[in-house]
Order: sequence, then C-alpha cells, then structure tokens
Amino acid sequence: MISFLIENVLPSLQSAARAILLPLPFFALLGVAVKRRTLFTDLRRALPETRTNLLIHVVDAILVAPILTAMALSVGALFREYDLTLVPPGAWDGLPPVLVGFVAVFLGDFIGYWRHRLEHLPLFWPSHAVHHSDTEMTWLAIFRFHPINRLSTTLVDFTFLLFFGLPPYALLVNSFVRHFYGAFIHADLPWTYGPLGRVVVSPAMHRWHHANDPAAYNTNYATVFSLFDGVFGTFRVPGRCDIPLGVSDRMEPGLVGQLVHPLRPGSYGFLRQRLRQRLSAFRKEAPDA
Ligand SMILES: [Zn+2]
Ligand SMILES: [Zn+2]
Repeated sequence: MISFLIENVLPSLQSAARAILLPLPFFALLGVAVKRRTLFTDLRRALPETRTNLLIHVVDAILVAPILTAMALSVGALFREYDLTLVPPGAWDGLPPVLVGFVAVFLGDFIGYWRHRLEHLPLFWPSHAVHHSDTEMTWLAIFRFHPINRLSTTLVDFTFLLFFGLPPYALLVNSFVRHFYGAFIHADLPWTYGPLGRVVVSPAMHRWHHANDPAAYNTNYATVFSLFDGVFGTFRVPGRCDIPLGVSDRMEPGLVGQLVHPLRPGSYGFLRQRLRQRLSAFRKEAPDA
C-alpha cells in the first residue's frame, strides 16, 4: 500500500497541476470579459480563500487521489468478479456515443443530486461544510473538499454508475463534464440563465446553494441539471445572488482548521443536543419505575 502511494504521488501532482492550468486561460478571459475593472480588486479579496483551496487541492493530490485510484480499481474488480451490473454492458454498444455520454452525465447528476442531499444531513454535514466555507467563491472552490468528503463523494458516484454497465468512455465523459461544469458554476458570475435555468444549473443557482442564509439552506443540489431540483422540490433562485456566502459553523480558517473540522467532536454538538432532546422526551413518556 505504501509503495502504491509513493508510485502514484508524482503522477497525481502532475494531474493536479493540469486540472488548474488547463481551465485557467478560459476563466481568466471570462473574468476579464465579465468583471473588467473590478477583476483585480475581486481577485485580491479572494486571495486568502484561494490559497486555502489550492492547499486542499495539493493535499488531495498527495493523499486522497492515490487512495481513490486504489479504491476505484477494487470496486471495478468487485463488479467484474460478481457481475453486479444491472444493465448488460453490451446493451450500450448499438447506441450513438454522444447519446451514451449524455445518459452517463444525466445518471451521474441524478446520483450526485441524492448523494449531495445526504451530505447536508447533520451526520455528514461537518465534512461537507468545508466545501461551503469559502466566503469569496471562485471557480477554484471546486477543489475545496475535505478528504473524507472527497472520498465518499467519488466512491458513491462511481459505484452507483457502475450498476448501469456504462462503457469506460461514458464514465470518463461523466467525470469530465461534471467536474468542469462544476468548476464553471462555482465561478463568480451573476448569470441565472432565465427560463433555461429551470433545466440547467446556472452559476447564480449554485451561488445560492453556498449562501449563508437559512432561506437558502437545503436547496439547489444538482450540478448540471437543475430539473432534478425542480422535480424534487429543492429549486430556489430568487434572482442573482449578492448576499454573504459561507457557513455559520465554528471553523478555523486555513488548511489545518479545515482539515480538523469534521474530526472534532465539537463539530457534532447538534447531534448530542438532538440525542439529549430525544432522551428527555422518552423519559417524560416512560411510566415511573
Ligand atoms: Zn452542498
Ligand atoms: Zn459548491
């Protein structure tokens, strides 16, 4: 296992650098076109949060990505050995690759929608809260995930997609589209897409998901298709989002504070509180001994 980690660290760091450098010209041009004179002021303000995003990305590359590769290989081998797919792999062969790729993204987003809803439950929230803690959200917020959250997210999405027996190229299309579109909706853009925003997730819609406002909590879970939020009653886009972002959880800023947050018992205080309420309700209901 140790040698596997060492062998994979260098390629992991290289692909982590590519994940930043390849989309960088696109987002730089977009920033100039949309923000013009305010670009540098906004960039300067977002600098501390950007530093944290990049540091988490490096931790991800060194620690999480090699573990994820090993886990994905094991899950794939398990599916092959026990033939766990619900759809025979050959079923996709006669269909146009564009359609198969589209189906993979659609299914991937459906799975992601429900996984994301689970991440907002009290038990899983402390590790997901790290993603929400960026108060100056830019496209680089796509890299801010706690290692626990990164592992669970990728493993859940990948495992559930394997049940559909999709060809490897369709799985790649799903990862590529959902990752890069995910980066796009985290960019600081005011667009709501008008009526189209009911079908496709807009940057304003995802910004509302990150808003530090009780009215915005538990809404806008999809990454690509906002129609999932519409169908399941979680769609909420009152217009462009100009209110403060972040979380109200007590979380120390910087890399260490972020990494430690879901490991501290204090981050689960609300669970203890809920348990205490249940116990006192049970004692009141129970007859005297
Ligand atoms: Zn979330
Ligand atoms: Zn997000």
